[in-house]
Amino acid sequence: MKPLRHTTQAYILVRSMKDIEIKTDTETENNPIRTPDVLPPVTQKPEKKRLIHRWVVVMIVIVCLLVAGGAVAVHVYNDHQKHVVKQESSQVRTDFANIDFDTTTEWNDQYELNVMYPKTGQGQIDKTARAKIDTYVSDFRAQVASKPKGGKPYELNIIGAVNYASKTAINFVYTGHLYLDSSISGNITVNALFDRTTGKEIKTSDLFKDGKYLQVASDTARQALPGILSQNYNKTLAEQGTTPTAAHFDQFEIVDAKKINLVFEPGQVAAASAGTVKVPLNLANLDSDLNNDVVGKIFPDYLAQVEAAEKKAQESAVKGNAPPLLANGNVDCSKAKCIALTFDDGPGPGSAVILDTLEKYQAHATFMVVGSRVATWADTLKREVADGNDIGNHTWDHSDLTNLSAADAEAEVSKTQDAVANVTGRRPFMVRPPYGAYNQTVINEIGLPFIMWGVDPDDWRDRDAGIVYQRVMSQVAPGEIVLSHDLYPTTAAAYQRIIPDLISQGYTLVTVSDLLNIDPNNPPAQVFSSR
Ligand code: ZN
Repeated sequence: MKPLRHTTQAYILVRSMKDIEIKTDTETENNPIRTPDVLPPVTQKPEKKRLIHRWVVVMIVIVCLLVAGGAVAVHVYNDHQKHVVKQESSQVRTDFANIDFDTTTEWNDQYELNVMYPKTGQGQIDKTARAKIDTYVSDFRAQVASKPKGGKPYELNIIGAVNYASKTAINFVYTGHLYLDSSISGNITVNALFDRTTGKEIKTSDLFKDGKYLQVASDTARQALPGILSQNYNKTLAEQGTTPTAAHFDQFEIVDAKKINLVFEPGQVAAASAGTVKVPLNLANLDSDLNNDVVGKIFPDYLAQVEAAEKKAQESAVKGNAPPLLANGNVDCSKAKCIALTFDDGPGPGSAVILDTLEKYQAHATFMVVGSRVATWADTLKREVADGNDIGNHTWDHSDLTNLSAADAEAEVSKTQDAVANVTGRRPFMVRPPYGAYNQTVINEIGLPFIMWGVDPDDWRDRDAGIVYQRVMSQVAPGEIVLSHDLYPTTAAAYQRIIPDLISQGYTLVTVSDLLNIDPNNPPAQVFSSR
């Protein structure tokens, strides 16, 4: 019966405990207290012998256990020797203060893992960066776990580097190489930009005020990918991976204070075998959309430079540099260092930003308007006039006037004259012939000044604010007429830099009528290309 057996066991346990407790003089029913005078002489010697015997037994047991344990250990070692994981770690210093890497190397016959984890002293940054890297590490461990026995060890090397660091921002770039077999391997790029003041990660979208950058990023990537990928280019994949959504443009790395690389993971814009793909994106193309709070943290120097240039330009525009004027109030460009900026094909998407910039620096320009666009962009056109700019006639629908009959050419121009006059109350008094195409018949028929140009940055072809900026700045000279197009946001972005920079070089930005001293009431029917 179970209860009985339990009782018996309990009893035996109690018994044995009592045996041990003999010396403590505890009274029990079976062992009455012995008197001390009887106990010592009789029991001392045998007790000692018993203890020695016990010790011998214990020692033998221990030795046996050690031998057995050793045998088991040797057995386990023999069985698993190949799989024992060895580990080493070390620290890699960088050139940047307070930024190091902890490197961990781990290997056995199945795999080798080398990983560098950042150590910035900013716990949040280190933790986030580690978590990012560890997603690749745990993928790798899963691959190792399912690796067939034998064959080459799998290998993952993740090498960290500091791509950029300032007091307020830090950009890590990780490159990884994965070898699963000779047949499968891949390259990994992990980019992480952090705000060192908050520890938060900065994503591409944080650089901009709103989502407008996505279209520019998408266009830029689509334009650049055929050249970058060459034989790996696949139009379908490239377009799928660059539709203008934030997720497609999440990763970037800093190139310099004006340029980032959009970073696409293997397989995003081309076959995975093409690896990580990078496309440069000029931030100047997106100047007006930049979130200066964030950009200022990443590029403190950048904002300082922009602000200094703006301040200098505004100062020289407002005071000191007041240009000499003619009796009619126009700038005297025979004395002042004048330039006439002209913007064709609008009004359009770039016009407002150009108008803002002109207004900010108290500068003026000439807008060569396409008549068919006037109704849609009437408010923009009104502002162009209200801000003191000239309006030129760029025909009704951008026709080559030299291909038309004299009557049709005249109609192209007069239809636009009427449209502009309807909206603004003023008739244009100059023509910018589309494609720069004119002949004497056309000039005679139309009877207005034909305004050509001397500086052409090809902004319609290269939608890159940086390129447009460079070309204009390298070609300008006093008395020049500059041709650009206010259709393009990239052109508008370029002029956000061109206008203050020209002013700080001592230029006065005037209308074409100021530059050439054209009397609107008596415009000469002749061709001008500079002063
Ligand atoms: Zn044009």
